Amino acid sequence: MEYISTRNKTLKYNFKDIFLRGLAPDGGLFIPRQIKKYNNSEIEKLSKLNYVDLATEIILNFCSSDFEKNKLKKLLEMSYKNFTTQEVINIKKFGDINLIELYHGPTLAFKDIAMQVLGNMYDELNISSNKTVNIVVATSGDTGSAAIAALNDRKNINVFVLHPYNKISNIQRKIMTTVGSNNIYNIAIRGTFDDCQKHVKEMFSENKFREKINMSGVNSINWARIVCQIVYYFYSYFKFKNKKINFAVPTGNFGDVFAGYMAKKMGLPIEKLIIATNENDILERVINTGEYKPSKVKPSLSPSMDVQISSNFERLLFYILDEDDKKVSVFMNDLKLKGSFLLNKEQIAIIKKDFSAKKINDKETIEIIKNFSKNHDFILDPHTATAVGASKIIKDNSVILILGTAHPYKFLETIKMATSKEVAMPKQIAHLMDKKEKYDVLENKITDIKEYILGKIS
Ligand SMILES: *Cc1c(COP(=O)(O)O)cnc(C)c1O
Repeated sequence: MEYISTRNKTLKYNFKDIFLRGLAPDGGLFIPRQIKKYNNSEIEKLSKLNYVDLATEIILNFCSSDFEKNKLKKLLEMSYKNFTTQEVINIKKFGDINLIELYHGPTLAFKDIAMQVLGNMYDELNISSNKTVNIVVATSGDTGSAAIAALNDRKNINVFVLHPYNKISNIQRKIMTTVGSNNIYNIAIRGTFDDCQKHVKEMFSENKFREKINMSGVNSINWARIVCQIVYYFYSYFKFKNKKINFAVPTGNFGDVFAGYMAKKMGLPIEKLIIATNENDILERVINTGEYKPSKVKPSLSPSMDVQISSNFERLLFYILDEDDKKVSVFMNDLKLKGSFLLNKEQIAIIKKDFSAKKINDKETIEIIKNFSKNHDFILDPHTATAVGASKIIKDNSVILILGTAHPYKFLETIKMATSKEVAMPKQIAHLMDKKEKYDVLENKITDIKEYILGKIS
């Protein structure tokens, strides 16, 4: 499989390149030159597989140059053996609501499903065999802990996690900062997630710095993460055979819902992908008005979705613009120089064929958690709640699958506002609760961050 950049189709990369780099040197995102499209009988065969076998088939399409099938299967088995469910994910029915629980990994959010695999791929691809790799990652709360759990104590790998200071939940912070390994550095930035992400992207595009620290990244712009997330769209779709099926997806950086778009491109006949946002509603706005214009991040009850610059949207743009790398570059340049870009009516119509979007504000989120708890005796986390709310825009009687992206225990403060019911502490994190937290607070300045990293690795 050959990879290209959304901003330049002439350069070629292999899986190992794009895995290690995360971001293309021209600032674009990596994308496969071609996508495997399954026919009906192939889909039928896939529908009979268990989770790991299905994951092996799907993921192999994207990395067969670097993995033999059996090796990949072993790697996936190892990645998911600590999950507290038999089949990685869990599907629950509440009346006409179908919840896909994706949060049974070690850090209680869907990020584990891809991140555990990435952690093992670093070893398997021999990336750090003779030179220490420094992974720098920005997190809105869940990516960081998933990365730490996946890379903790690995040889020749350091992990620097940037999170927005005081803008994530207490449990999210605790899971990240109590690990105590020597190769993990937690940095709280006095800024927003968008600031953290901007600094990481900038470090990646500074060749000298990137090479000096042998930098790598595991943010959702890393294509390998998207690939791992495609699997559960197939898997859960197959549990609801022969029906019109929509997915509602709590969305921030557009990685998870983009994986659904990929599943559709690969031949899975999904009806609509419903993008649920909180008050950081850039994606709702772009779908309804065509204007992609990040504004200031507003802190919300669903902090992992407090994103205004939805990086993976660039990948969708590439397809909307007929895979025209020059046009993508023009749009992204407009974004950089003018602070926005504008899609025309035809382009909006293309997006609307596959996507709908709806914003759910904090007040609505609380109401949804409260009513769901009352009606179904089940507690939703605030991110998943936005998807339950957004799913109401589907008015026909087609089936809706809600992606449950996090365990409610991670957001106890919010749950307490919505319901007096207790959430039991999941056993994965019980041992962390009385451990000492360790993190450093830095100013929102890239020079300070670079200095910090250089200081730690010298
Ligand atoms: C990361 C995250 C999201 C958003 O996913 P994206 O791929 O960034 O769109 C939603 N919910 C939770 C709980 C998350 O951790």
